[in-house]
Amino acid sequence: MNTLNPAIELRDYRMPPEQVPETIVETLSVAERNELKSRIKLLLKEKNAIIVAHYYTDPDLQELADETGGHVSDSLDMARFGHESSAQTLVVCGVRFMGETAKILNPEKRILMPDLNADCSLDIGCPIDDFSRFCGQYPDRTVVVYANTSAAVKARADWMVTSGSAVDVVNHLKAQGKKIIWAPDKYLGQYVQEQTGADMLIWQGSCVVHEEFKGIELELLRREHPQAKVLVHPESPVSVIKQADVVSSTTGIIKAARELDAKEFIVATDKGIFHKMQEAAPDKIFIEAPTAGISATCKSCAHCPWMAMNTLRKLEHVLTTGSNEVHVDPETSRKARISIQRLLDFTAGRKTALAGDA
Ligand code: SF4
Repeated sequence: MNTLNPAIELRDYRMPPEQVPETIVETLSVAERNELKSRIKLLLKEKNAIIVAHYYTDPDLQELADETGGHVSDSLDMARFGHESSAQTLVVCGVRFMGETAKILNPEKRILMPDLNADCSLDIGCPIDDFSRFCGQYPDRTVVVYANTSAAVKARADWMVTSGSAVDVVNHLKAQGKKIIWAPDKYLGQYVQEQTGADMLIWQGSCVVHEEFKGIELELLRREHPQAKVLVHPESPVSVIKQADVVSSTTGIIKAARELDAKEFIVATDKGIFHKMQEAAPDKIFIEAPTAGISATCKSCAHCPWMAMNTLRKLEHVLTTGSNEVHVDPETSRKARISIQRLLDFTAGRKTALAGDA
């Protein structure tokens, strides 16, 4: 529901549970795992390639990225790192929009992905034709889209934002008197609207992983762990966000785990992030926020089924064969780059201002 514009109804673009793929678990013996990892390390050198992996991928992939001069991070930082690296081939272990963003920012490089079917329910829930028609009805509004969208949707937008920058960008636009179309995540959109008071028309998409965190069960878990701090990604429902000590992006959640003076944390985001959290704060205890319980319907249960499509075997296969290259149509890429670049310039400007203040 768009509180500032109750008359405008949008279709529900949430993905039905039966369309969510099963989560793959790669079963390997210790010997197979070690052999694959050694072979991948050799192939990376041979092909002048690096791995850029998202926090939600398997710990083996994150370790490989770290051990071979690659990078583990959030989606925008993954693309930024790829741009700065001298490697000619980037293997993006994540989901499709991350591969596309890497290609848009690095058109001269070869971008490979272990599985080109690794998608995202937010991206799927914002088809370009519907979205473009919707935007066309409100030509006076500034179109702001989340990073978790296709290159075509980014090309239709004025701004791309990340979960860590959305509030600042929308505040900036509000100060200029702009009204906003926001897509695709409705929970993040509601959170940003509440934080900024901006006039926003909110697309009704959602993340199948974060949507499954349960407010009532979280209350019960907090009673069992009264000292624990609650860290929540803003793609989660309002009932979960309102119990958070910190609402933040993946990078912000890891930072909070390291810096907050607490021993225990309840974490509402994909459990792949626990690998980096444990690395950042080895003495602390991290507990998954509940997806199960009396109101549970989850299929993904705190682990993204598309992120899980990134496996060691597939990584070895693309490095061997050079298959699964990401391509973005040049005109779409040119337009999408404008909305991405606005964010990069905005965040660079803020860093400079902060350094000046200091
Ligand atoms: S965790 Fe959610 S937002 Fe992230 S890639 Fe998976 S479906 Fe998309």
